[in-house]
Amino acid sequence: MLQSVVTSEVTAGLSLLSDQEIEAIAVDAWQGLSDVGDVDDLVRRREVEVVPERNLPDGFDGLALPHKLLVRPSRIRGLWVLRVLHELAHHWLASRFHTHADAWRLTLALAWPAFRVRRGLRSLEIPEWALTLRVLILEESRVISAA
Ligand SMILES: [Zn+2]
Repeated sequence: MLQSVVTSEVTAGLSLLSDQEIEAIAVDAWQGLSDVGDVDDLVRRREVEVVPERNLPDGFDGLALPHKLLVRPSRIRGLWVLRVLHELAHHWLASRFHTHADAWRLTLALAWPAFRVRRGLRSLEIPEWALTLRVLILEESRVISAA
């Protein structure tokens, strides 16, 4: 379900931000973090608090508030990380015009920013299908070779 929604958003959804803009935000988000930085470091850097919330309405896995990200918990670590990254992406994009496709593209870029790919560093732990989608974007956009 989530996989098909995200795949269609990312591959066919309306996006307003360019690949370069998305990558630049991801670079900004990772600024100052070490090679072993993880999702918790991104959250700290953004100065928000992640609150696990089981009682979100159907169809919603999270909500980005000004200082708080409500995220539906999951026993699957990769899915939890993906949900947190998605709310972080919404938080980063809150001050500019964007679409949900942009939010998902940034979600995936936060998990594995181009500069970390280039340096041979691993992605954050996200579901295999999401990582595959990210690799596809990197190949198609050529943000890797462009830099
Ligand atoms: Zn969303």
